[in-house]
Amino acid sequence: MSLAELRAIEARHVMPTYAKAPVEFVRGECCRLWDADGREYLDFFAGLSVHNAGHCHPRIVAAIREQAGRLAGVSNLYYSAPAIRLCERLATASLGGKAFLTNSGAEANECAVKLARKRAHARGIDRPEIVVLDGAFHGRTLGALAASPRLARDELFGPLPAGFVSVPRDDPEALREAVTDRTAAVLVEAIQGEAGVFPIAAEVLAAAREVCDEAGSLLVLDEIQTGMGRTGSLWAYEQLPIRPDVITAAKALGGGLPVGACVAAAEIADVLAPGDHGSTFGGGAIAAAAALAALELIDDPGLLRRVRELGARLEGGLAQIDAIEEVRGRGLMVGVTLRSGLDASAVQSRCLEAGLVVNVPGPGMLRFLPPLVVTPEDVDRALEVLAPAVAS
Ligand SMILES: *Cc1c(COP(=O)(O)O)cnc(C)c1O
Repeated sequence: MSLAELRAIEARHVMPTYAKAPVEFVRGECCRLWDADGREYLDFFAGLSVHNAGHCHPRIVAAIREQAGRLAGVSNLYYSAPAIRLCERLATASLGGKAFLTNSGAEANECAVKLARKRAHARGIDRPEIVVLDGAFHGRTLGALAASPRLARDELFGPLPAGFVSVPRDDPEALREAVTDRTAAVLVEAIQGEAGVFPIAAEVLAAAREVCDEAGSLLVLDEIQTGMGRTGSLWAYEQLPIRPDVITAAKALGGGLPVGACVAAAEIADVLAPGDHGSTFGGGAIAAAAALAALELIDDPGLLRRVRELGARLEGGLAQIDAIEEVRGRGLMVGVTLRSGLDASAVQSRCLEAGLVVNVPGPGMLRFLPPLVVTPEDVDRALEVLAPAVAS
């Protein structure tokens, strides 16, 4: 089937929620993709920071094949080793405590919101609030949407769940004032990915930790995009002056399959009790086996060191390009703002024509999220394609 035929079917039968680039990818290996005509591309997007171990990593493929041929899942009403081992692996590699497995990032955040609200009710708070930052993205389900100020448009999707309060992104004082005795949690990303890669200042995160401690609220860190090695440590908070009470993960967690998780520290790990929450597919055996393989690959000090080194190489190269005004990020999560008047979508198209996949998170911005197994040569190649694509 040709791309033109796919687009004709799309026009008739696919809800138009995404503006797709005009290319059909049919195969991937490590940091490369191939389209239906056999053309090769260098992938600096990794399916939105999903394929952190590279496309079709043989160990992840083997884990999926093995589990798919044995047992796909038995629901959460019976024992199945992959899900339980994954919870153990996740908890011991982060906050200790306990994990709940989901099928997406939005669902992981819904779990965190329910946990924080239930805990607040138990402390006598009738109408608990969750404090979030302007520009945040926490997902598309109604609760996660209400926590995402840019997208939470009551006039389109209302009535949205109440109880979410947003404050400016870079204002520790505003955050301090917003946290009151009604606050169940502060929910933040360490680096706002969908907004265009905006690291949250250490003072803001430290202020969040401090006021949460004072008010007895939870600090929930959305590590869905920043986690799984993306910033050069397994979790972004490891490089920050804070330790959250809850983290949420997804995207790269499943090694390409849909897996999310909400991990809560030991003191709050039993807030959600039998009957409070659930998911039919959450913790399915194939997905959990893939996630265990992905964690095994990514939770590796050598790989994480390379992520920091290659991130610095990429950022350094981008800073040399005249038409780029600002470079932001950490590790291999990098965003740029182009000089005013430059059209990021046109740059993206020129890159695609030259065989490089990059992302446009917003007007005038580009985002780079390569698989974490890129080589220095791949980084240099991307910069070689990018420099003329940005300039012309
Ligand atoms: C992608 C993302 C989500 C939503 O994850 P889905 O799997 O699309 O539901 C939530 N938070 C952050 C920070 C994300 O990057």
